[in-house]
Amino acid sequence: MEKYTIVIRGDELSHQVADDIDNKLKGHFRRDDVNPDLVISVGGDGTILDAVHKYLDCQCSFVGVHTGTLGFFTDYRVNEVDMLIEDIINGEGAINRRHLLEVEVVTNKGSEIFYALNEMRTDHGFYSQAVNISINGDFLEVFRGNGICVSTNSGSTAYNKSLGGAVIYPGIQVMQLTEVAAISHNAYHSLGSPLILDSSNEISLISKNFNPLYLGMDHIFHVIDDVVEVKVRVSKRHVRFIEYRERSFIKRIARAFIHS
Ligand code: NAD
Repeated sequence: MEKYTIVIRGDELSHQVADDIDNKLKGHFRRDDVNPDLVISVGGDGTILDAVHKYLDCQCSFVGVHTGTLGFFTDYRVNEVDMLIEDIINGEGAINRRHLLEVEVVTNKGSEIFYALNEMRTDHGFYSQAVNISINGDFLEVFRGNGICVSTNSGSTAYNKSLGGAVIYPGIQVMQLTEVAAISHNAYHSLGSPLILDSSNEISLISKNFNPLYLGMDHIFHVIDDVVEVKVRVSKRHVRFIEYRERSFIKRIARAFIHS
């Protein structure tokens, strides 16, 4: 590692911590905000998501310091900054590749690809949508309700979990389809449970309500007109997180969701 940058949440504490990191790294490495080898995020999970989207096309690794409550993508607390500096200088981290979700939005004018680390959502709280869902060309259902969410295994502990989806152990190349407030009575039926698919699958979503399509990709929101089809798949692209110390996923979910 030769070049680093820091992505900072807007609060005062995050700025103080980032200044401290910057001062301690300066003598060892070069700061490069355009083409860094290492992106240090200071803030919360949202800051990491921000950093990942900002440096998506960069061949770099990510590491996070959390300045709020314990995060899922952030390994170091405020009082562990010296440990982080020491780990970066020693430079013996393991690369943890987290796969991305790839969403192709086909409109009358062509198609556009979007990426998410956590999930894609087509949910809309104000009117219900009827969405034809097929998997690899096989028709599954007409879903009626607020929308659907497709998450990666990284995103399984985020919005997906609030929707009743399963928590997925890191490293497995899957995507999980969950329903957002499905209408369910004797006229309308949908699967009703999360559907976990491997990377050989493509989910197709077609709806007359996708004009416009309200598309959430992590913390970013798009409104797209005249959408013919939305195709969702596990991307071949991934994000590299650097882990200088071994962290237990089971301990992390226990601490985050069961006992602090
Ligand atoms: P934010 O940064 O305030 O994040 C919202 C919450 O989601 C925070 O508590 C954050 O720690 C947590 N979070 C984010 N990614 C996570 C992950 N992979 N595992 C566990 N928790 C995670 O808000 P934002 O910047 O808009 O972040 C966008 C993310 O917030 C979305 O990707 C979505 O997953 C999540 N979110 C969750 C809900 C919900 O659970 N009802 C609603 C909206 C957004």
